[in-house]
Amino acid sequence: MEQNRKYLVIGAGFSGAVVARGLAERQGARVLVIDSRPHIGGNCHTERDSETGVMVHRYGPHIFNTDDLRVWNYVNKFGTFRPFVNRVKAVTGRGVFSLPINLMTINQFFGKTFTPNEARSYLATLGDTSITEPQNFEEQALKMLGQDLYENFFKGYTVKQWGCDPKELPASILTRLPVRFNYDDNYYNKFYQGIPEEGYSKVVENILNFPGIEVRLSTDFESVKQTLNLFDHIIYTGPIDRFFEYEYGRLAYRTVYFERIKTDMNDYQGNAVINYTNIEVPWTRIHEHKHFTPWESHERTVVFKEFSKETGLDDIPYYPKRLARDKSMLSRYLERASASEGVSFLGRLATYRYMDMEKVIGEALSYVDAVLEAAQNGKKVPVLLVSPL
Ligand code: UDP
Repeated sequence: MEQNRKYLVIGAGFSGAVVARGLAERQGARVLVIDSRPHIGGNCHTERDSETGVMVHRYGPHIFNTDDLRVWNYVNKFGTFRPFVNRVKAVTGRGVFSLPINLMTINQFFGKTFTPNEARSYLATLGDTSITEPQNFEEQALKMLGQDLYENFFKGYTVKQWGCDPKELPASILTRLPVRFNYDDNYYNKFYQGIPEEGYSKVVENILNFPGIEVRLSTDFESVKQTLNLFDHIIYTGPIDRFFEYEYGRLAYRTVYFERIKTDMNDYQGNAVINYTNIEVPWTRIHEHKHFTPWESHERTVVFKEFSKETGLDDIPYYPKRLARDKSMLSRYLERASASEGVSFLGRLATYRYMDMEKVIGEALSYVDAVLEAAQNGKKVPVLLVSPL
């Protein structure tokens, strides 16, 4: 084992934590992890609400779902994951329906009692057959679902969520959501699903709890820039455009913000997540966090309305928009990144991709594998493992 290599990891979200742990545990390295926020966990951060004791997903709902057994086994080493199935509902202009679109949604929306095969045939008659190769989100939706379902479930929500015409968005965003011709209303298709009993931040804390790892919170990258020469290598998980001081411009992100709903009710909406698909309703969804921990019981409840907007200078970036303008800017940043010496770029912000937690963790684990392999073969630490476009 190579002793005492010194790494600086920027960002204490899942990317940073998994990499720090891997390098400290598998390479005997010393790792300093910094984060500009006063807490670990990045946007997965959870904390108990001081008034009610309810575990709150501070930056919006996170439900762990993966098919990757390595990732699932990994996270389960650092916390107990309780089974949780996200059964989202949608309030549309025509009432409340089940999401993702499934046989219940189709039957209730069209006032039918279709069997799976009948529903499939019916949807095929609604889909726009003139679209053979969908070029964008709207075409994908019209081809798969037809006008009525698209307008009631997707158009308004997508305009609110992304702040642009759905024609400008990639078709791949829609394919995140399944359409099912049975009564399965599980929001995700993945085999392993759950929520950590004590929240995500506890999992990240356990990952970071290893000899050789030091964590400094409320510490900006700027504040350590003078000391970079103390480290053998840097792993950067912040926004890639920021790393290069926005030389080619700012990549567009959507950010979300929350408004707490004051309530004395014990149960505000009877479900963890309810989406509001109508464009006239300004929020995208309402989340009630006690429903993410059905194994706990709480007298009171904590509820937030979620809104989406363009990311301003002081806002936390969430969703990379990846519009045409962003993609060409990104390729210039990636070129710079690939040519960098001594820095690796990892995770959602540093590679500007719409990634779920499982993907971030999977890539961080592969990154550590690659670092160890490079060290064994006397090669340099890899800068970028993925080709993000
Ligand atoms: N979407 C929609 N209506 C909904 C839910 C999702 O139009 O009720 C669209 C929207 O464009 C969203 C995308 O489907 O960005 C992917 O949804 P997902 O729930 O995967 O988004 P996330 O959980 O990442 O916010």
